[in-house]
Parts: sequence; C-alpha cells; structure tokens
Amino acid sequence: MNEISENLETLKKTIRRLSKRWDVNNENLEIVAVSKQQSLEKIKQALEAGHRHFGENRVQDAYQKWNEKDGLKKDFPETCLHLIGPLQSNKASEAVALFDVIETIDRPKIVKSVSEEIKKEGRNVTCFIQVNVGEEPQKSGVLPQDLEALLETCHAHSLSIEGLMCIPPQGEPAGLYFSFLKTLADKHGLKNVSMGMSNDYEKAVPLAPRFVRIGSAIFGQRE
Ligand SMILES: *Cc1c(COP(=O)(O)O)cnc(C)c1O
Repeated sequence: MNEISENLETLKKTIRRLSKRWDVNNENLEIVAVSKQQSLEKIKQALEAGHRHFGENRVQDAYQKWNEKDGLKKDFPETCLHLIGPLQSNKASEAVALFDVIETIDRPKIVKSVSEEIKKEGRNVTCFIQVNVGEEPQKSGVLPQDLEALLETCHAHSLSIEGLMCIPPQGEPAGLYFSFLKTLADKHGLKNVSMGMSNDYEKAVPLAPRFVRIGSAIFGQRE
C-alpha cells in the first residue's frame, strides 16, 4: 500500500465510524479526491488503488491532466471527474466534454450554456448547483434567496439538477452551514448534497452527503 491509498483507507474508516456513531446510512457517499495542483504521480497512486472520483477546479488544468487522448482518462476511462471550481460560459463546451459532474452551476448564463452543450455533445453530465451559503461577496454560488429562481431557469432549459454544493465561510462553524444546505436541498426535493473538505468533512458525514471533496488529507499540501 502506498501513502495515498493509506490516506484513503483512513478517511473511509473515519467515515464508517462516524456513520455508525450517528446512525446514518452513508452507502452512497463518495469521496471526491481533489487533485488540483497535485502531481500526476500522486494522482496515479490513487487511481491504481482503485479510486475513481476526482475533483479539479480549473477547466484548462484539468484538461491537460485528464483528457482522453493523452491524459489520465486514457488509461482510466471509468474515472468520474468533478468540476468544483467556478465555470465561465466560454469554457462550457470544454467543461461538458471533459467533466462527468459539474458541481458549480450558479447563474442563468451558465445554465444556458451548459444545457446547450449537453444537448450538442450528447454527453451525460450530472449537475449540482453551488450555493453561496455564507452570502460572501467574493465567493461564487447562487445566493440562497435566488436558488428557487435558478432552479426554475434550469427547468426551463431542461437541465436536470441532482443536488446542491457549498463551501462554508472560513472561521465559522461549518456544521451550521451544512445543515442549512441540507435544509435547502430537502425543501426543493433534491436528494444530494456535496459538502465537507479536509478540515470539516467530519461535520458533514452525519448529514449523509452524496459527495465529500477532500484534497490535502489525501494528497498532502498542494504544489
Ligand atoms: C480545494 C477544494 C477542496 C479540497 O480542499 P482540501 O482542504 O484540500 O480538502 C474542496 N472543495 C473545493 C471547492 C475546493 O476548491
């Protein structure tokens, strides 16, 4: 076992322990290994250990690393690649061609361009809406009060939304924001939430997230 697979095993053990303690069914929970700014060597270790969900925050960097021609998806085509960083509409075509999950739908313009590209490219891409739960001006994500209207826009463009994603404000209790996101998801009949990073995933696990997005606790410090 290499260090990366040991880290993954430790994480899985912690998630199992917490799930038992809080009596929640986390069978559907997937760890998204956030591989942004990590070496190919480390990412390959995770792939060789059988891990298949990965997260990247920039379309261009992700393309270079993961594309099916000469990137990591060539040897590991079953990889499920998540976009977890902000998307510009002029990158929608590339994003839809490369990513299997887009977690950062956050405004009408992106809804339009992503839905158009999905139709054009005929790819099956799972979409989540990112919610700016702390209403922070510098952060992307739709404001909680604008979520309903955005969901209507998605409906109008036949863009199916599978869940909500958030990054809680730094230095504030993450658990409160996770509960808030879960409440918002329930209110709109969405089953899935993506929440929890290396420092706060233990607070997300009791709420049965679909995805936790973990970088440094798997790969170590970013380059
Ligand atoms: C970088 C990043 C993560 C992973 O952060 P770690 O603290 O390294 O676990 C998760 N989610 C998003 C949106 C990120 O940008």
